Amino acid sequence: MIAQEAMESTTGKRERSGAHARNKPLALFTESIMCLLTSQDSRSAFNELVSLMGQTFPLASPAICTNTKGAARCVYSVLDGENGGSRDARRILGTDGFSYTKVLVGGQSSYSPDRVDLPLVSGPSGQVVLSINPGNHEGIFHEWAKYLTPAVAKLLDNEILITMAFRDALTGLLNYRAFSDMLGAEWERARRYKTTFSLMMIDIDHFKRVNDGHGHQAGDMVLSSIADRLQGRVRKSDLVFRYGGEEFMILLPQTGIYKADLLAERIRAVIEKMRFPNGLSVTISVGISQYRDGLSADDLVKHVDRGLYLAKGRGRNRVEIYKDI
Ligand code: GH3
Ligand code: MG
Ligand code: MG
Repeated sequence: MIAQEAMESTTGKRERSGAHARNKPLALFTESIMCLLTSQDSRSAFNELVSLMGQTFPLASPAICTNTKGAARCVYSVLDGENGGSRDARRILGTDGFSYTKVLVGGQSSYSPDRVDLPLVSGPSGQVVLSINPGNHEGIFHEWAKYLTPAVAKLLDNEILITMAFRDALTGLLNYRAFSDMLGAEWERARRYKTTFSLMMIDIDHFKRVNDGHGHQAGDMVLSSIADRLQGRVRKSDLVFRYGGEEFMILLPQTGIYKADLLAERIRAVIEKMRFPNGLSVTISVGISQYRDGLSADDLVKHVDRGLYLAKGRGRNRVEIYKDI
């Protein structure tokens, strides 16, 4: 009896492990599709996907290269850039202009010069290519790619829609709609957790003269250069918006007025030193305000706007704080 049970149990185990082996690819495919559908954005989705592939098939040394609408070219690879990863990316993207993310999977990854390319997306949303070393795993990767294609396409389409709704086309910055939503969320957070945040409103001085004297295109170029510079000058957690034509807003979480003032002054000085073609330069006026108990989100915007108004009235190219108390 006991021997029979043991035998049945062994047979059962063998069967189960056989079924497990057959289901393994399916489980992997499901897991990778779940990671695509539940990720916050395509960056983290591709990162996780390459990590999953690299851990499951270390010899494949997978990489994903993306060149999609409205986004910078990106590479996610288990390979080191110097150890074939960059060469692989240049071969697919045809350029050096990409951001490279090394995906950590533990252990060394090897690069084979005869890499196999599997297109995941190729169409109006852009191009996403999975590349691997050749080997026994190839068949499974071909199947995998077929499962992934619709999920990747959906992810990119969603991202394009979100970009169109919340980003400004000229500068790539978050737009006014995004500002309203994020100010509301930050205000709620500050109220609930008794923290603070500051707002900075920036307006380019006499910008009409830039357009009148140098043309609208030159004006556009100045706007997008300033947008890049603002984005480069703030912390990752700070949010930069194009608020209106030549107006920008910066939301500074966990930041009091003193630090906001220092940052505003630094930004003002940096913009003043920027030089555009034909010797063109501009200055900015800045207003700042800080959240405190009892102020609504609208009050904060009014205060920051009044600060800016003061800066304009007191001669431009300066930073002002509006004080209502
Ligand atoms: P102030 O110092 O008082 O702010 O003067 P200003 O000339 O900057 O202000 P005004 O509001 O009179 O003019 C803003 C100008 O910004 C007018 C408009 O043509 C220009 N502008 C707004 N949006 C854009 C844009 O997307 N591209 C370009 N090139 N110009 C823009
Ligand atoms: Mg203005
Ligand atoms: Mg202006």
